[in-house]
Amino acid sequence: MKYVLIIGDGMADFPIEALEGKTPLEAAYKPVMDALAMQGIVGRVRTVPEGVPAGSDTAILSIFGFDPRKVYTGRSPLEAAGSGVKMEKGNVSFRCNLTAVSTGEVPYAERTMASHSGGNIDGKDAQTLMHALLNDPGFAAKLRQAGMEITVNPSYRHIAVLKSGSDRVELAPPHDILGQRLGDHLPKGEGAEVLLSLMEASYEFLKDHPLNKEREEKGLLPANSLWFWGQGSAVTLESFQKLFGHTGDVITAVPLVKGIAELAGLKHTDVEGANGDLDTNYEGKVAAALNALKIDDFCAVHIEAPDEMSHAGDLGKKLEAIRLLDERVVAPLLVGLNKLHERYRILILSDHYTALSTRTHDGTPVPFLLYDSGVNTARNLPYCEKNAVYGGLMEEGTDLMPLLFGLEKKR
Ligand SMILES: [Zn+2]
Repeated sequence: MKYVLIIGDGMADFPIEALEGKTPLEAAYKPVMDALAMQGIVGRVRTVPEGVPAGSDTAILSIFGFDPRKVYTGRSPLEAAGSGVKMEKGNVSFRCNLTAVSTGEVPYAERTMASHSGGNIDGKDAQTLMHALLNDPGFAAKLRQAGMEITVNPSYRHIAVLKSGSDRVELAPPHDILGQRLGDHLPKGEGAEVLLSLMEASYEFLKDHPLNKEREEKGLLPANSLWFWGQGSAVTLESFQKLFGHTGDVITAVPLVKGIAELAGLKHTDVEGANGDLDTNYEGKVAAALNALKIDDFCAVHIEAPDEMSHAGDLGKKLEAIRLLDERVVAPLLVGLNKLHERYRILILSDHYTALSTRTHDGTPVPFLLYDSGVNTARNLPYCEKNAVYGGLMEEGTDLMPLLFGLEKKR
């Protein structure tokens, strides 16, 4: 038996007026997923336990069988693991964004957050600025003094790890404070001073960097300040193989999801051109998944685009993202699976709701579909939020893997 998990990030949503009360999942053209649902089962599952923040971090931990109430310490340690950063007990990691803050002759606190992504700075430019900053003797000395190490990624998202420190500092996600005065959102609490002084020092260095001057001349925002957030202490997860008796590969573009795989002892094969966007390398991801299934009996494919399109508030593109998932992931995966001449199960779900109406995540139980190539339930319910209600509610997301692997407790 082969087992496939497909996560359409943020696919689930609420009824939309422009769709005459249908949800995007209900309205999108997705004949393959619907056919699987009609021959399989649909139901709802609570991937985000009550009282836990709704996000891919907490929801995908649940899906892979790890209770976020017990293991979740923050987003950053998971991303760190996905970026190849090894953390030890006592370490605290932070997401370190290369942001764009407003310029001019005012104190740091009086500036505003112009862009959480440094004006969408691209890979190589981001690396150039970060390496220049980290190689500046003054800044390097400050980092050493703080006991901090920064790992540079080819994007605006970097990872900072403090050798020892507190994760109880209050930090604002920069995408939540766009256009707002920094002074109202600076680090507060234990260890805040060190972080603030690094942020201020990064601005003093980066504001004059020639690459930023060039960006400004081109009408781009200068990527001129580090911003720390999303902190957490080192995480250890039990081995997926020990828990469920299966090994496998997780195909994703997103460091957070790679990190969960890494910590769970699962592979996470990189796919060139997989970018978490609408124009990701779908064919490459499917090929990697089918390759993985030749070796292991479990594989997960994570598609980020529906979530991104929901955050962008773009209904048309959300529908397109769901259609592409159906046409360019689920359909060719089925073709490949059928060629293996072995029975298989597929579990498809949205990790959490991402509502077009609010452009943010929601912890409402998500719809899932489970298909077994050896069984036809003939329930005839296409895959969507409304039909999932008929299938009952699974209260614990951690019951999903046992369901997929047929290890569920007899009730
Ligand atoms: Zn999201």
